[in-house]
Amino acid sequence: MRRYWPKEDLMGCAVCDEAVRAAIREGNVLPMTDGAFLPQRAKDGSYTEGLCSVCRARGRTRALATLLTRSAPLIASDAPTLIASADEHQLPVYRRHFTNLTHISLYGNFGDPSCIMGVDLRDLSRFPDGHFTYFFAVCVLDYIPEALQVFSEAHRVLKRGGAAIFNLMPVRVGDFAQPVTIRSHNALKHEAYVPAMADGTTGIPDCRFDRRSLLNWMAEAGFDVDHFFIKDHLSELRFGFFTGRA
Ligand SMILES: [Zn+2]
Repeated sequence: MRRYWPKEDLMGCAVCDEAVRAAIREGNVLPMTDGAFLPQRAKDGSYTEGLCSVCRARGRTRALATLLTRSAPLIASDAPTLIASADEHQLPVYRRHFTNLTHISLYGNFGDPSCIMGVDLRDLSRFPDGHFTYFFAVCVLDYIPEALQVFSEAHRVLKRGGAAIFNLMPVRVGDFAQPVTIRSHNALKHEAYVPAMADGTTGIPDCRFDRRSLLNWMAEAGFDVDHFFIKDHLSELRFGFFTGRA
């Protein structure tokens, strides 16, 4: 697969700053925008992905916007596109590039009345084979240890030549001895849209994945696999994208 991403250090928010998007399209470099980033620190003192001070989009969304802006010349904007659990910042980014969206989530509708709730990515049987051209899941696989099952379903619902794009939080992917490790079953505990179980936890696995295993599973599911990083310069995090051509 061909790859598209900014060549050099690109500063600013790819979600809300048109000058930044223009620079991405043209492959240019912009100076740092002072005060654009609201730093947030994790418990261990490291920086998290933070918020854009203007539009409040998070790093994952800025990386997605960078990818889509860069890929825009290749995108068939009216092609059927499946998106998973897109929050209120991601939705406008998708809508900027795609007109034929199907939005699914397991919990919550993220303010989107057309979102189909209760859909588990491991079982997309409500959709026929080869139904979609694109499938995006940003920071969703993070909570599903059965990634191979998700990749297999993604491959099934995509038409040949279609593309799947997965992005996980950087901390969740590394070169680990185990393909997947579950650190707790209480992920997303601060999110209001997630129901609590009888024991007070969310029951949602908090996963860490071995990078090579994810790539092997995507290939096993039938994808022509690519893996690249998009650096979000407001947070200085590198977001890894796992992409597959069906
Ligand atoms: Zn912004």
